[in-house]
Amino acid sequence: MKPRLKVLWLQGVTCNGNTHSFLNYPHLLYVLETFEFLYHSLLPSTYTLEEISTCVHECDILIFEGAYDPRMERVGTSLETLVGHYGSHAKYVIAAGSCASFGGMFKHSDPEHITGLGFDEKEPKGPFASSPKLINLSGCPMHPEWMGYTLRMIADNKPIAVDELHRPKELYSYLAHHGCTRNEYFEWKVDSDHFGTKEGCLFYKQGCRGPMTHASCNKILWNDVSSKTRVGTPCFGCTEPDFPRINMFETKTNMSIPQDVPVGISKRSYLTMAGIAKSFHIPRLEKRLIDDDA
Ligand code: SF4
Repeated sequence: MKPRLKVLWLQGVTCNGNTHSFLNYPHLLYVLETFEFLYHSLLPSTYTLEEISTCVHECDILIFEGAYDPRMERVGTSLETLVGHYGSHAKYVIAAGSCASFGGMFKHSDPEHITGLGFDEKEPKGPFASSPKLINLSGCPMHPEWMGYTLRMIADNKPIAVDELHRPKELYSYLAHHGCTRNEYFEWKVDSDHFGTKEGCLFYKQGCRGPMTHASCNKILWNDVSSKTRVGTPCFGCTEPDFPRINMFETKTNMSIPQDVPVGISKRSYLTMAGIAKSFHIPRLEKRLIDDDA
């Protein structure tokens, strides 16, 4: 039997959201059979955090959850020492979630010291800045299948192509807009006035960032069944380095023109196309999909 790869899951400044997300991974048993967790705060582990903090062990994969503050301590050992020791021996370093990837919401409490493992928003910074070992699984939280995919690729010794922000291309080349069930409403500029309804696009009135956000949430569904936009909540761009933005459920406009337009389209082209689409009147799209009174 092949020896199991050793995984160490450390936490920085975190709400534990990525741990909780990963516990929903449907193939968790496969993970536990394939990898040995040296330490994880909830999963069965070989060592205690006290034993890990002595820095006498080594891991193949370091997973880090939360924003990185080098001064923070775990059982008397600084994160700088822990991440430095385990990261230098590991073949892969995985940043789980947007805080570990880019600093996320916690970096705003101390922008001078708190970053992601390899980025401060878009700028390379932190202990793994520009390191080929680094794989960012951004998201608030990251999708459990994204971690599952990454671990499977490593276990199978397959290469993982990453984008300029070190996110796996297989997972982050898509936009959250891809596969959204509201695409037809987006095309014809039929907007939703409320959260939680089946009809309408959430781009103009609810701040949806789907067309600007690299994520496969509408391709690899959450719990195999759903996504934010499918239940009528806008995508708020949690996989991008500028997350969180202020007023996330608001579409910023200038004279009614959206400040941001879909990735890869010039504002002028987008507005021309939107103007033409809006001039059509399609009664089918303006009605409730399911008439509750019928
Ligand atoms: S709700 Fe968002 S993701 Fe869906 S079609 Fe509209 S803009 Fe795109």
